[in-house]
Amino acid sequence: MFMKKLLTILLAVLYAAVLCSACTIYVTDDNDLIVHFLDVGQGDSIFAELPNGETMLIDAGENYHGEGIINYIEQAGYQRIDYLVATHPHADHIGSMPYIVRNFDIGRVFMPKVTANTSLYESLLKSLKSKKITVKNGKAGVTIVQDGDLSVDIIAPSEIVEDNLNNCSIVIKLTYGSTSFLLTGDAEKEELSAIKTDLKSDVLKAGHHGSKTSSTQTLVQAIDPDITVISCGKNNDYGHPHKETLKALKAVGSTVYRTDKDKTVVITSDGSSLTVSTGMPSIKRAV
Ligand SMILES: [Zn+2]
Repeated sequence: MFMKKLLTILLAVLYAAVLCSACTIYVTDDNDLIVHFLDVGQGDSIFAELPNGETMLIDAGENYHGEGIINYIEQAGYQRIDYLVATHPHADHIGSMPYIVRNFDIGRVFMPKVTANTSLYESLLKSLKSKKITVKNGKAGVTIVQDGDLSVDIIAPSEIVEDNLNNCSIVIKLTYGSTSFLLTGDAEKEELSAIKTDLKSDVLKAGHHGSKTSSTQTLVQAIDPDITVISCGKNNDYGHPHKETLKALKAVGSTVYRTDKDKTVVITSDGSSLTVSTGMPSIKRAV
C-alpha cells in the first residue's frame, strides 16, 4: 500500500516536472548572452542578460512602459539593472526611465553628454539625483564591461552635435566569443559613417527604427549583418521601416525581425552561434 502511494507521489512529481519544462519557452545555458529586443511599440528598449550574471538595459520606450519593463526583467529572474544606458534623450527612448530609476535597483548609468530642454529629461536627472547616481559620459572609447569573452564597448558618439540628438546616440558593440551585436540607438548615417571601429556585426539593431537616414546601402554593406532587428510600432506615423532600408538589408541577405510583426525578439548567443525566438510577450502599456 505504502509503495503504491509512493509511486503515485513520484508520478505526480514527474508529471509536474514535465508540465513545468513545457512552460519554459526557451532553454538557455547559464553562460549564454541573451538579448531581448522588447516590443515597446514605436520606440526602443533592449534588455540584455550578460553571461557573467549581470544585466543591462538600453533605452526604455515611451513613458507608459515602466511597469511593463520592470515586470519583464523580474520575470526573467532579476532584481537589478547593473548597467543602464540612455542612448539619447528622446521620449521614445528615455520615456520610462525616470519610473524605472525610481522603482528599481540601478547600477551604473551611461548617457551622451548632451542636454535636452524637456520636462522628461529634467525628471530623469531628478530621479538619478534622488538616488545619488552619477551619470557616466557615454562616448566612443568607453568600455562598459570587459569580462573574459564578453565586451560591451561604446563606439560612438565621438563628437556631440547639439542640433541633432539622434546623432548623439550611444552606439554599442557587444561582443561575446565570436558573435557580435551592433546596437545603434537612433544614430543616423552621419554618426555611423564616422565610426572608426570595424562595423561588421552578426546582429544589427537598425538605427532610428529602420529609417533610410540610418541604414544606407553603404553602411548596411559594411555591417553585413546576418540578422537585423527593427524596433518600430505597428502603422507608425513615420513609415518605419522605410522600404529603402528593407531593400538594402535584403541585398546583403540579412534576415529581418520587426517588433511590430514579431513582438519581442530574443536572440541568444552561446559565444559561437545564435538562436532567435520571436513572438515573446510585448511590453504591456500602463493605462
Ligand atoms: Zn527613436
